[in-house]
Amino acid sequence: MIVKMPNLPSLFLATTNPGKLREFREAGESLRSENQSVSFEMLPALQTIPAPVEDGDTFEANARIKAEYYSLFAPGKLVLAEDSGLAVDELGGAPGVYSARYAAMLREGAGGHENSSDEDNNRALVSQLERLPASTHAGKYVCVIALARDGQTLQTFTGEAHGELLTHPHGTGGFGYDPYFYFPALGKTFAELALDEKRRHSHRGAAIGKLLEAFRQKP
Ligand code: IMP
Repeated sequence: MIVKMPNLPSLFLATTNPGKLREFREAGESLRSENQSVSFEMLPALQTIPAPVEDGDTFEANARIKAEYYSLFAPGKLVLAEDSGLAVDELGGAPGVYSARYAAMLREGAGGHENSSDEDNNRALVSQLERLPASTHAGKYVCVIALARDGQTLQTFTGEAHGELLTHPHGTGGFGYDPYFYFPALGKTFAELALDEKRRHSHRGAAIGKLLEAFRQKP
């Protein structure tokens, strides 16, 4: 369902993940240089708001949980939250919605809600990949952005990036699983891309592109 978007300039962003923030900021900067009307701003006092429990079964469910919850702290405003992660074909789509806590999930089961460090998650991913037959390990990143106001989701925007998972890291940029996510079209991992290059090819860049497109649609 396409919801007609009001012509509001500011979208409040509800994420404290530094890697995601960097990418949203860069997307915001690129918009300014293109003279676009939409801008991203941090949700005021986000750091002081306790995080909601992300217990959805899908990226979309978790994005909606976060956007609806955080929008209650900014009455009448448009609030964005995103949920994202990695899905590896041969691992049955894992780590999936457990991407942020894959190491803890493998250790303790799915019950916990504490995120693991990128380093621990990457070690967990490599340990799982190394149990597979030696081959190319296809996978994708998925990002779902939910746009909410006053506790209700107005629309969601999904982006994907398809690649291959490596068992040895390459590059120092990006965050999360990026040093292990090889993007054949560019012959580089996502950790070897500049921010603007990652935006043009990534799941998050694709989802942000769809969001902006919705704001461009005039009634
Ligand atoms: P979320 O904050 O619950 O959405 O968890 C997202 C997790 O997915 C992150 O902590 C990373 O582990 C992984 N992830 C999502 N997007 C990216 C990306 O662009 N690069 C690397 N890892 C990502």
